[in-house]
Amino acid sequence: MIVVMRLGATAKEVGQVIKTIEEMGFKPHLSKGEERTVIGVIGNERKFDPGRLEVLPGVEKVIPILRPFKLASREFHPDDTIVNVCGVQIGGREAVVMAGPCAVEDREQLFEAAEAVKRHGARLLRGGAFKPRTSPYAFQGLGRKGLELLREARERTGLPVVTECLAVQDLPAIVEFADVIQIGARNMQNFNLLEEVGRVQKPVLLKRGMMSTLEELLMSAEYILSKGNMNVILCERGIRTFEKYTRNTLDVSAVPVLKRLSHLPVVVDPSHAAGEKYLVGTLARAGIAAGADGIIVEVHPHPEHALCDGAQALLPSDFQKMMEELRLIARAIGREVAPSPDAAAPAAPATATSSPHDLRAEG
Ligand code: PEP
Ligand code: MN
Repeated sequence: MIVVMRLGATAKEVGQVIKTIEEMGFKPHLSKGEERTVIGVIGNERKFDPGRLEVLPGVEKVIPILRPFKLASREFHPDDTIVNVCGVQIGGREAVVMAGPCAVEDREQLFEAAEAVKRHGARLLRGGAFKPRTSPYAFQGLGRKGLELLREARERTGLPVVTECLAVQDLPAIVEFADVIQIGARNMQNFNLLEEVGRVQKPVLLKRGMMSTLEELLMSAEYILSKGNMNVILCERGIRTFEKYTRNTLDVSAVPVLKRLSHLPVVVDPSHAAGEKYLVGTLARAGIAAGADGIIVEVHPHPEHALCDGAQALLPSDFQKMMEELRLIARAIGREVAPSPDAAAPAAPATATSSPHDLRAEG
């Protein structure tokens, strides 16, 4: 159920509605949009009497949210949510690229990857310290040592870090070192973990389970939101279908569908959908063209030696090419992808008064 306040409703009127919701035994959830204030009513709706709220001053209407996800729904929050990661806005005009190795393997590998992705315009660094592997004999990640290396890479490059939290017991360490907590596809329905990340205020990148519907993804987001953490970024990373030429099938439609149903930012992971490097750039372009708010992509300086997912890792040179293509696509749809930080700043136009020694005029 949501309570839509009239345009210009006063703080006192909003306060009265919140108080009444609490008195009725429900939890209010305030959302201040650009135009108007909406208050979500969380709890068992069958016991809810809308009449008590409809009569309050400042209330325009009380409407049921028919979908099972409430706080994640567009009805509750009509404007796009922008998640702020250390000053990088995810969900705004910029399509944000997050890049780095699948797993943190050692200092040289991580720093080489981090510096390369930074050089070509990535805004966040990805890298797993705790890896969810199908085989218990495969490389499981460096654990805490990996988190420490990520912190060093962050200090060197200035790139905020996104890294996966596999288990509740690792959460305090992840919160200490990471800027975005990644919940992987295999944990999308680990409800206990979702509730715990809902209790912290760090942004969460929630990946779609490989056999999950979009409604299930949004219900998982709802677990996080309902505990108070509104900084959730959804991620489409491919789902399992009968097709075997790709590791997973990238569900491009997930992007516009999620953006229609929800206010949360949506990013695309072309790497885990593709499974093979040759496809990654194409899927990344499709994701941006479909309206994704960003891309999370795997890059490794020496994929032939990678301990995890080498076949789908881009070389830094592939990444550079992909970034150039993404910039063109983003521009074509009224968005932008960050330029490489080395790109020369555009020269100021010459003016009649500039002297021959005015370097700005020579650019
Ligand atoms: C990852 O991004 O490192 C990863 C394991 O992806 P997913 O959870 O989508 O398989
Ligand atoms: Mn991977």
